[in-house]
Amino acid sequence: MPIDEFRRHAGAVVDRIADYLADVGELPVLSRVRPGDIRARVPAAMPEEGESMEDILADFDRLVVPGTTHWNHPGFFGYFAVTGSGPGILGEMLTAALNVNAMLWRTGPAATELEEACLDWIRRALGLPEGFAGEITDTASTSTLYALAAARDAAFPAARADGLAGLPPGRVYCSTETHSAAHKSVATLGMGYGGVRHIPVDGAFRMDARALAAAIREDRQGGLMPVAVVATTGTTGTAAIDPVRAIAEVCAGEGVWLHVDGAYGGPAAMVPGYEWVLDGAELADSIVVNPHKWLFVPIDCSVLLVKDRARLARAFSSTASFLTVPEPETRATNLMDYGLALGRRFRALKLWFVLRYFGANGIAERIAEHIRLASLFEAWVRDSEEWEVLAPRHLSLVAFRWRGPVGRAALPATSPHDLNEANERILERVNAGGEVFLSHTLLRRPGDEPVYALRLAVGNLRTTEEHVRKAWEALRRLEPPGPPGRHEENL
Ligand code: PLP
Repeated sequence: MPIDEFRRHAGAVVDRIADYLADVGELPVLSRVRPGDIRARVPAAMPEEGESMEDILADFDRLVVPGTTHWNHPGFFGYFAVTGSGPGILGEMLTAALNVNAMLWRTGPAATELEEACLDWIRRALGLPEGFAGEITDTASTSTLYALAAARDAAFPAARADGLAGLPPGRVYCSTETHSAAHKSVATLGMGYGGVRHIPVDGAFRMDARALAAAIREDRQGGLMPVAVVATTGTTGTAAIDPVRAIAEVCAGEGVWLHVDGAYGGPAAMVPGYEWVLDGAELADSIVVNPHKWLFVPIDCSVLLVKDRARLARAFSSTASFLTVPEPETRATNLMDYGLALGRRFRALKLWFVLRYFGANGIAERIAEHIRLASLFEAWVRDSEEWEVLAPRHLSLVAFRWRGPVGRAALPATSPHDLNEANERILERVNAGGEVFLSHTLLRRPGDEPVYALRLAVGNLRTTEEHVRKAWEALRRLEPPGPPGRHEENL
């Protein structure tokens, strides 16, 4: 592309981005296309001859925007809401322009050193002690895989060279609420899904540290090898905070690796008064936080910090002859040694832009505002007879449901199945409305039927009180007038 042409189209793209960000709130949050709709409008083979950027951008408007669920929409409250912020988008654009592959220090000196600097800024901001270092990965799933690979190699030092054959089966402990990234990692690392042992949670969905200690002891007596524990600060279902300090004490006593999944909740520790969210994390061996969740960095950006970074290198360093470097670069950080990927994007640039643009105080204020908005929504739910909060709320996620029209006394007569179905329908209808988007989870308390919970997560910088109120009003408009299981025509 000749540079003049590039300049012209770049201007048009930047204008598009600015218009999109200004108006995204007017679009339906959840895309209205049906499965296959987009594919049906894309030719079966690539064009024989090149096409004009005008045509390509016109198709972006025609196909891509309507075929997108708008995570940057202020009414996006599903999963964990996120923000592709202005400074983050600008950083991402420049990353593409530089097209750096930061596998070795020499292939990306600025990328390597900014990555190390940003990781250290985040370490400090989260209140973690000096020494924690690591790398930026694409997702928390990858970060967790890397952490558990290091844990596996710590437990089985010969595994990297010889595999796991002949060794006692490894066990990784997590709660029933732990994100499936942990299970996938354990299976990928050769320990099988059977290598995960689930530890029960208490009534607030937090891992039971005493049950953990008993499980580890029992497994050891049974000839198994406890490899790691995954504790979560901000679980996916309800944003429960596991008792990391108590879990860390168990791990220290047993010599077991502790990985803390703070993918969503970790950044809350930057807010004055919320340091407790990561209480005990300083005792962990590794921790993941996702700047692409609650630190306003565009997807993808996950930060893995390990107490002893050499452990990561033991699992991943490589000595291919074409990658050797001369002195003094052998002493520089070569980030390819700390993870699976050789090729590494310059993700630190967008992170650096975001951390500098907002500053620690700006970030803390914005996270605090999200927590305030969620607490407001929680109060509306609590004040309504027909709705109920299903789990303690500490951060910016509320798990709740419609409980029936006639108040608390009538609930026992209602079938749990009907109530679940009614809430499922409410969710589908509210999302079809296009103003807001919420997601759901199934909550399992010991001895009870699984409960279908609606989840409202605040995490977008463009979300205001007005958007949260819109979500509540939209939900209230969909309340069925009778008990669950009847009056379905209203749903
Ligand atoms: N951990 C927790 C607590 C999560 O909620 C999620 C995703 O929402 C993940 C890990 C996985 O994150 P990623 O999509 O970055 O792999």
